[in-house]
Amino acid sequence: MASPRSPGSPGTSPVRPWALLAELTHGCPLRCPYCSNPLELATKSAELTTAEWEDALRQAADLGVVSAHLSGGEPLLRPDLTEIVAAADGAGIHTQLVTSGVGLGRARLGRLADAGLRSVQLSVQHADPATNDLIAGRRSFTDKERTAALIREAGLPLGLNVVLHRHNLDALDALLDLAPAWGADRIELANTQFYGWALRNRAALLPSRERLAVAARTVRRRRAELAEQRIEVVWVVPDYFEGNAKPCMGGWGAISFTITPDGTVLPCPAAAAIPGLDAPTVRDHDLEWIWHRSRTFTRYRGTAWMREPCRSCDLREKDFGGCRCQAFALTGDASATDPACRFSPDHHLVRDLVDAPPAPASPTLGEPRRPARRAAAVAPEEAEEAEEAEEAH
Ligand code: SF4
Ligand code: SF4
Repeated sequence: MASPRSPGSPGTSPVRPWALLAELTHGCPLRCPYCSNPLELATKSAELTTAEWEDALRQAADLGVVSAHLSGGEPLLRPDLTEIVAAADGAGIHTQLVTSGVGLGRARLGRLADAGLRSVQLSVQHADPATNDLIAGRRSFTDKERTAALIREAGLPLGLNVVLHRHNLDALDALLDLAPAWGADRIELANTQFYGWALRNRAALLPSRERLAVAARTVRRRRAELAEQRIEVVWVVPDYFEGNAKPCMGGWGAISFTITPDGTVLPCPAAAAIPGLDAPTVRDHDLEWIWHRSRTFTRYRGTAWMREPCRSCDLREKDFGGCRCQAFALTGDASATDPACRFSPDHHLVRDLVDAPPAPASPTLGEPRRPARRAAAVAPEEAEEAEEAEEAH
């Protein structure tokens, strides 16, 4: 690592964001124990209105945003999802729907596509239907399979999102088989990032180093084969095991931001857990001020805030010192070097976790994510499809 260098760039941003994560609701019909949503979920009554989302999307486009992931929770629970997609498209923002696939029918998907939806990312918990449903906390595998077919029928690009952990890592080959079987263009295999409910359930989710190594070999073996079928395989590295800090969010306040269901604007979806961040909301400030001027966004922007060993490390402009939320979660200090980095003085915190003797095989999945409160009244034209998604609340 490390040759001494100048202290780094100041905390103001000459750059503009291009990506937005729009968390439309924390409501969700599933109860995944690896969910990265916060332990305290935003209530329905606190959610932004349709008009507030439309205004936020116009402001985001003015700021430079060209791509938005419409996520949650389950964004299908917003009865105004079509209007939100149309507002984004009208502002010049491409939208991708990130969904559990529960409660999406042909008619609604058609309306979303007509409004400008560009692609869909569908979560899958396991390739075995019964185990998928066990992890998800409700029957949902057949819904997902049906939704995948509808997405292809609508001509929209389809991505499968799989969060990996000790309860599905051994099924990686079968999960990869789902991509061609369901007509996906892409499959993202994301090793669990330990935030929110996943952090609470870390002991039940963390795989052994040996099983992770087998999984990494499986991905290498299958990637070329699937590339021949024009299927992209994305492997999100498990930073706990690699000894390298991840370049979280491409840098704090560097390229993207998150708007949570109640309008709070964050540099990273997990940043709400950092105390004293004093995150602004779109109800109180415009996005231009929030991005360029708010303390929340300037606090860890650039490299001037860094301490050693990051401050004089040659990698500081590549990984930005890792993840602030993870540094806080593991050390109680959000300005510390991410303990996932092998140069961190706190790296033993991560090593102790991953090098501990593997826990005995256990069916324990961890605590299911708390069910969210019921969604508000659904517009008549969306009622039938939203009802199905709501029923498990
Ligand atoms: S419970 Fe599962 S499907 Fe719902 S938001 Fe969390 S991870 Fe996604
Ligand atoms: S986290 Fe800090 S010390 Fe570790 S490689 Fe990145 S910049 Fe260097």
